[in-house]
Amino acid sequence: MPERVEGFGLYNVSVSPVFRPASLDALRDALAVCAANGSRPVFRGAGRSYGDASTNPAGPVVEMTGLNAIAGFDETSGVVRAGAGLMLGDLWKFAIPRGFWPPIVTGTMHVTLGGAVAMNVHGKNGWKKGTIGDHVESVSILRGGGRVEEIARGTPAFDDVIGNWRRPDPIVEVALKLKKVATGYLDVEAFVAPNLAATLAGLDGAKDDWDYLVGWMDCWSSGKSLGRTVLHVANEHAPKEGEPRGWSVEEQVADIHMGPLPAPVLRLGLKLTAGGPQMRLVNLAKYAASAVHGRQRYRQSLVAYSFLLDYLPGWNEAYRPGGFIQYQLFVPKGAAESAFAKALRLQHESGVVSSLAVIKRHRADKFPRGYALDGFSLAMDFAVTRRRASRLIALCRAFDALLLECGGRAYKAKDCVGSVERLSRARGGAA
Ligand SMILES: Cc1cc2nc3c(=O)[nH]c(=O)nc-3n(C[C@H](O)[C@H](O)[C@H](O)COP(=O)(O)OP(=O)(O)OC[C@H]3O[C@@H](n4cnc5c(N)ncnc54)[C@H](O)[C@@H]3O)c2cc1C
Repeated sequence: MPERVEGFGLYNVSVSPVFRPASLDALRDALAVCAANGSRPVFRGAGRSYGDASTNPAGPVVEMTGLNAIAGFDETSGVVRAGAGLMLGDLWKFAIPRGFWPPIVTGTMHVTLGGAVAMNVHGKNGWKKGTIGDHVESVSILRGGGRVEEIARGTPAFDDVIGNWRRPDPIVEVALKLKKVATGYLDVEAFVAPNLAATLAGLDGAKDDWDYLVGWMDCWSSGKSLGRTVLHVANEHAPKEGEPRGWSVEEQVADIHMGPLPAPVLRLGLKLTAGGPQMRLVNLAKYAASAVHGRQRYRQSLVAYSFLLDYLPGWNEAYRPGGFIQYQLFVPKGAAESAFAKALRLQHESGVVSSLAVIKRHRADKFPRGYALDGFSLAMDFAVTRRRASRLIALCRAFDALLLECGGRAYKAKDCVGSVERLSRARGGAA
């Protein structure tokens, strides 16, 4: 029976037959059914891409989360071998008691290894550690005919898998080199940058001294405050005599503080404010609270720092019925100030302003299908409502034009409006 299949933003939807194989043989059977019907499946991990990457209006979806076994771990090299359906959340729970941590983690732990490799995801340590492809030792692909082929890094075939989000044959296993960590904690510094130039200088200036860099930008700010941001930078915490190591799952999650309000109340609050002018106040309050406190230093667990967006489970549901879209602009360093200033002003002019925006510093991606470049990215969330849908789409088309103009890139994991395909066509094949 066909089912409703949604992107994380709930805006891109397909009604598709869904296969959920729990073993390699079941996956072979599912693919045989698709082949017999003449339909080409789209593979799906945890469905955390915001747009249409893992929906399929033209046919079936094969959900890979059932292939999630950990096949082996080498304590010496740190290489873990696991099914492509293993969730990042299960991987860190396996790794941390052994003194390891995934080298790249996304803003949510609810993504699969296969989905992460197919998008070549980045984390907050994009400047120092690149993308997940930089840490994958090999990938195993289920070829047509049912044969599993392991492809080692350093070959053209390997490079072709990394970031290849619409491949015809599924990734079934990934060997990933985990990072050894002395403790499960980070030393975090939080401070404000009063405008866009200060935001970019703050991230750029911190990039070699700090492993993790991220900024929460207030897109409503204007004039001299345009692009003001709360920056969070972090380094590994050195072990200290008598201090807990933070190597247990319990210690990791104990650091997550949601505040006094229960999750359903927070979700209701988000539903009532998302896309509305109240978000201006929320952004102002976040910035003002950090500005008042000045530069803050604190210790935080890796989980609490990395997965802030998971604190409120199911937060995307607050955006029903219209859903929301994210647009992440990747812009070369030299063009960033003028491109982001334009992107912010375009929002003000159109009256459609992002409620949540995240800025990061990246290094150039060496994989042929890469999207990251030596520069910055600005990811912006926009609620889709009937009243502003057409203005929002026009805004996204203006962002596309901006990227074309400055040599920037769009990122398929966040693309809800076909920007990656449009840019690729405009550039004669390169996204
Ligand atoms: C709250 C939130 C925060 C995020 N933060 C970040 C971030 O910091 N950095 C970042 O880079 N991304 C981020 N993302 C995006 C997310 O990491 C990517 O979209 C990732 O690909 C999702 O993994 P998934 O398992 O859900 O895959 P899906 O979204 O289900 O699929 C992603 C792509 O991979 C393909 N695919 C999935 N599994 C396989 C397989 N086994 N074989 C072949 N192809 C496959 C699908 O066809 C699809 O094209 C975030 C998403 C959310 C919701």
